[in-house]
Amino acid sequence: MKLSWNPGDFAANECPRCRKLVRTKFEFRNVRLARSQLCVRDVLVDVCTECDHMVSIPPQSVPQLREAGVSK
Ligand SMILES: [Zn+2]
Repeated sequence: MKLSWNPGDFAANECPRCRKLVRTKFEFRNVRLARSQLCVRDVLVDVCTECDHMVSIPPQSVPQLREAGVSK
């Protein structure tokens, strides 16, 4: 797997909403953390091109979320 993604990159991933393998696109989104209800701006995530659902968060974006969750 690629280690680093850029906005506009395409990938293939399993979408939990479509329940199938879909084409996904990397873009910046505001992500709400389920646990802390914190909203983190401009996180690079993997988005389903069919239903616009956020499919996954690439490893490179995880530290950004962690930092936001900790430095509350
Ligand atoms: Zn989908």
